[in-house]
Amino acid sequence: MASLDDPITHGYFRSLVGEKGMMVLQKMPEGEVTDDEVSRATGVLLNVVRRTLFILYEKRLASYRRVRDTDSGWLTYLWKLDLSPLAELMEEERERLAANLKERLRFEEENIFYTCKNRCARYVFEVAAETSFICPNCGEELMYQDNEELVEVVRKRIEKLRPTK
Ligand SMILES: [Zn+2]
Repeated sequence: MASLDDPITHGYFRSLVGEKGMMVLQKMPEGEVTDDEVSRATGVLLNVVRRTLFILYEKRLASYRRVRDTDSGWLTYLWKLDLSPLAELMEEERERLAANLKERLRFEEENIFYTCKNRCARYVFEVAAETSFICPNCGEELMYQDNEELVEVVRKRIEKLRPTK
């Protein structure tokens, strides 16, 4: 099972449920628990716990069972984490990240970049030529910017995302 310490898994969950949601995920008691019990065990506010559980439910990473209290007639939701679809979700996430990076790499490799000494922005050649190589923001001259280091960084990130198996 994928660990929450794994950077891809960690990043995925953080964007999915936020920092507080991460606490729910990390400290959630085992077995079936009510949202109230999760809130007490994790120290996270009840509405945040509920939101987190429903987000996880939508991703099939949590399930619930409704139980009616025989005395009060109230419905209780018993929640349970099920991280078994996680490996598959992480594989999709890894592919998504890799595709984005490959797109970025292609953009970096196919373009020539210009910037001013104030580094207002990076302009591709075509855009820089349109403004006669003058920064539209500060009026300084636009100069060629070597992106070899950046290309190398992106390449290494793509390399890291390759499946290790
Ligand atoms: Zn500028």
